Amino acid sequence: RGKRAFIAGIADDNGYGWAIAKSLAAAGAEILVGTWVPALNIFETSLRRGKFDESRVLPDGSLMEITKVYPLDAVYDSLEDVPEDVKNNKRYAGSSNWTVKEVAETVKQDFGTIDILVHSLANGPEVSKPLLETSRNGYLAAVSASSYSYVSLLKHFIPIMNPGGSSLSLTYIASERIIPGYGGGMSSAKAALESDTRVLAFEAGRQHKIRVNTISAGPLRSRAAKAIGFIDTMIEYSIANAPLQKELSADEVGNAAAFLASPLASAITGAVIYVDNGLNAMGVGV
Ligand code: NAD
Repeated sequence: RGKRAFIAGIADDNGYGWAIAKSLAAAGAEILVGTWVPALNIFETSLRRGKFDESRVLPDGSLMEITKVYPLDAVYDSLEDVPEDVKNNKRYAGSSNWTVKEVAETVKQDFGTIDILVHSLANGPEVSKPLLETSRNGYLAAVSASSYSYVSLLKHFIPIMNPGGSSLSLTYIASERIIPGYGGGMSSAKAALESDTRVLAFEAGRQHKIRVNTISAGPLRSRAAKAIGFIDTMIEYSIANAPLQKELSADEVGNAAAFLASPLASAITGAVIYVDNGLNAMGVGV
C-alpha cells in the first residue's frame, strides 16, 4: 500500500506545503491537507475551478490529487479552547471539527491511519516589529501558532500514525543567527520548534518508532513570507552570498521532505536539515 500523508498549512500553490505535497504525491503518497479555516473557502473554490491545475502537474504528467481538505486552526487543541467570538465568527461558523483534536479524530474516522505528518504553518501577528517592541501577547501568539501547534499536531496524530512513520516541520535560520526583520517573537518560535524537534524525536521514537525532523529552508516568496515584508531582499542576499548562487525553488524543499519522509532516511531523526543553497554555512557575505 502507498503511504498516506497529512500536510497542515496549505492554502494556495505558492508555499512550501504545496511543494511538499507534490513531491510526496510524485513518490506515490496519498495526500490529505489541513487548511487554515479563514482560508478554506478560497482554497477549495480555487482548487475546484482549476486555478491550481498548472501547478498540480507532477513529473509524470499526471495531476496531483488531494483526497480531502480538512479545515484546521492549529491554535486550538479542542473545542473547549475556542473562545465565543471565534466560534461565532462567520468565517469559522461555516466549518466544524477544525480544532487539532477533532481533525485527528476525523482523519481517523475517514482513513484509519497515516504515515507522514507535515507541519508547514506559522503565524506571528507582530512579525514586522523588532523583538524589543513585541508585546507579550504577540510573542505568545507567535509561539502558539508556530511552535506549540506542532507539539499539539504530533501529540494528536501519533496515535493514528503507523510505526516507522515520519513527521516534519519547516524552520528558518533566524532561530540561531540574527536576521533583522524577522521579529515579533518569530525567531524565538523557530528556536523552540528546533529544540522541540530533538525532544519530540526522542519521545516519539522511543514510544512509537516515529521520526521527527525539521527542514531549515531558505527564502521563498510565499504568501506568509510576503507578509513579513523583506522577502525580496532575503532572496537577493542569498543569491549573492550563498555557495550555490541560484534562487531556491519550493520543489527543492519538497524533494528533501519526500526523502526525509521515506525509508531512505530511516536513521535520520531529531535533525535540522538545511535546504538553503548552503547559505547557513557562510560566516560573512561575499
Ligand atoms: P504559506 O503562506 O504557504 O504557509 C503558511 C500557512 O500557515 C498558510 O497556509 C496559513 O494559512 C497557515 N496558517 C497560519 N496560521 C494557521 C493556524 N493557526 N492554523 C492552521 N494554519 C495556519 O507560507 P510558507 O512560507 O510556505 O510557510 C510554511 C512554513 O515554512 C512556515 O513554517 C514558515 O515559517 C516556513 N519557512 C518559510 C520560509 C520562506 O521564506 N517562505 C523560509 C523558511 C521557513
